[in-house]
Amino acid sequence: MSKNTQTPNLIAEIHTHSTVSDGALSPQRLAELMQRCGVGLWALTDHDTSEGCIEAAAAAKERGIRFISGIEISAKSRGQSIHVLGYGFDPNHRAMIAYSEHMNAARADRMEAMRRRICELGFEIHPEEVTSFSERGNLGRPHIARAMHARGYVDSVQQAFDLYLADGRPAYVGMDWIGVDDAIDLLHDAGGIVILAHPARYDIGGQLAGWVERGLEGLEVRHPAHELLDEARLIARCDRFGLLKTASSDFHGTEAPLEELPGICGRVNFPVAWQEAFLAALRY
Ligand code: AMP
Ligand code: MN
Ligand code: MN
Ligand code: MN
Repeated sequence: MSKNTQTPNLIAEIHTHSTVSDGALSPQRLAELMQRCGVGLWALTDHDTSEGCIEAAAAAKERGIRFISGIEISAKSRGQSIHVLGYGFDPNHRAMIAYSEHMNAARADRMEAMRRRICELGFEIHPEEVTSFSERGNLGRPHIARAMHARGYVDSVQQAFDLYLADGRPAYVGMDWIGVDDAIDLLHDAGGIVILAHPARYDIGGQLAGWVERGLEGLEVRHPAHELLDEARLIARCDRFGLLKTASSDFHGTEAPLEELPGICGRVNFPVAWQEAFLAALRY
């Protein structure tokens, strides 16, 4: 019996975003919220950057929370955007730092292209309005959405996506995302394990077997975007391919004061058996 089989059933949040990408709370504030919500197992998985992990790890340690380094890589396959979660890698690994830095610059170029599209549609948004919504300068579509909302051009951030920013809408600009296979290799090289994020959001068709052969370790089975039927299908696939199962809320934060929010995190149940298998697979 490995030491990890004795892990208690911790309240867990292993898919979360901070101000290092498009979340509303800094890694420090997220750690505080995790503690308030009784979360004992936490991973920070910012979009295309592991920059917040060192700060988050220190904040988690002070609060007695077990922390796992994480990232959510924006990858692509057959023209579809596919999100790949990495866990337990070394956040100081050269390839992870190089990837984070490269993506930070590429995201800035992409957001500028999207901002120009918005202006061509007849709106006025200046570059600094977009960047003002990002504390750490790692830009994503939610930052443009917030700038449009602040101008009163849309009633909500969601409406900005629905009308202009979502894939296929007039201000959408894609990016040269890395392939899923390369994302798997990058994370393995850095010592991590690889979990496919919210798989029910895409049409993965027959591609899963190839990714498993490449080394994909698991599927995010339980996610707020998934229906119960999706979950059942994903569990069956995990069992068929011998994959790990994970669960989390993909938490992006909130503007409300933390003290008003006991229980906003840790509500998506990550069953103890899934947790144990996941923890046992981590190399770090
Ligand atoms: P990006 O990585 O810059 O393409 O932005 C993707 C992020 O925007 C996602 O992680 C979500 O936080 C948010 N997002 C993407 N699509 C939508 C949508 N249709 N509605 C609301 N938010 C979305
Ligand atoms: Mn996001
Ligand atoms: Mn995602
Ligand atoms: Mn996410």
